[in-house]
Amino acid sequence: MNLPRSAVLDKFGSSLTLKIFSICFTSTHLPLLALVAYLTIGYKTSTFPILIVAVMATLLGTAFCLWSVWLLLRPLHAVTKTVQAYRESGAVPAISSRRSDEIGTVVNAISTLIAELHATLSQLRRQATTDVLTGLGNRRWLRDIGTSELQRSAREGDALSVMVFDLDHFKKINDEHGHEVGDQVLVMTGAVIQHNMRPYDIAARIGGEEFCILLPRTDIAQALKIAERLRGELAARAVAMLPPGRVTASFGVYRGDPSRETLKAMMVAADRKLYMAKNAGRNTVHWDVAEACSPEPVRR
Ligand code: GH3
Ligand code: MG
Ligand code: MG
Repeated sequence: MNLPRSAVLDKFGSSLTLKIFSICFTSTHLPLLALVAYLTIGYKTSTFPILIVAVMATLLGTAFCLWSVWLLLRPLHAVTKTVQAYRESGAVPAISSRRSDEIGTVVNAISTLIAELHATLSQLRRQATTDVLTGLGNRRWLRDIGTSELQRSAREGDALSVMVFDLDHFKKINDEHGHEVGDQVLVMTGAVIQHNMRPYDIAARIGGEEFCILLPRTDIAQALKIAERLRGELAARAVAMLPPGRVTASFGVYRGDPSRETLKAMMVAADRKLYMAKNAGRNTVHWDVAEACSPEPVRR
């Protein structure tokens, strides 16, 4: 059976076995082929020139073998580096091979798999750290990002304020108007937070109807302004059949000392103020400042 030339080339291009076989055959037979050619052409048959031809052809065959094997395996080096880079830094460099043999197929498959794995992991990470209802981060996300932010603030000597707030009589809203309306209130609250956030603020839903916002580079005066703005906006919103003023929240704000306190301690301090706000009649903001931070008056 006569195969057309392009079919033979295709077969050769897609078969690693054929390529390896060709390299081995050519490099091992090169000295023999060179000698046959040398003698056929009728050059001198004395030992020394024949030896020179044999040595030169052997060296040439070895060089050809090494170079071809290097070319053959080069894509595997690239893919090894890519896998290492992904494992070490999560970087996803684009690699691809135009070769149709097994190595080209493996390189392209690994490249595609890494890209798919990266996309899936990113999606899972997003899902594991995002609150579905409000689109804000969740408590776990806040702990991770917040801890880094606290360390950054401590390093750079920046102020850091923590705001915690909780919707007032939310259970009653659920009981009287249904869970769906309760969910709409939570969605609205998330939207109000996002609308008021600066790009570097860190906001999360940390419980059923409890939210926390970390305010980097923010002293207590600025933090109180933000809290008052949020409180006012929430109270002014109508949601479903709930008129303005029906959805309110109580706030606890704490200006922490990032160089001495943990994030947890700051949140506890803000929480303490939140419950004072609840006890004081709700829909209000209570605050405190870390002892070492400033001479600002402290309401306890
Ligand atoms: P307070 O003013 O003292 O905070 O009273 P409250 O009613 O807001 O607080 P409580 O802790 O008694 O009730 C919170 C309610 O939030 C109870 C729970 O069913 C509801 N809740 C928690 N998560 C969700 C949610 O995802 N959707 C809805 N609709 N309700 C939720
Ligand atoms: Mg509540
Ligand atoms: Mg609550």
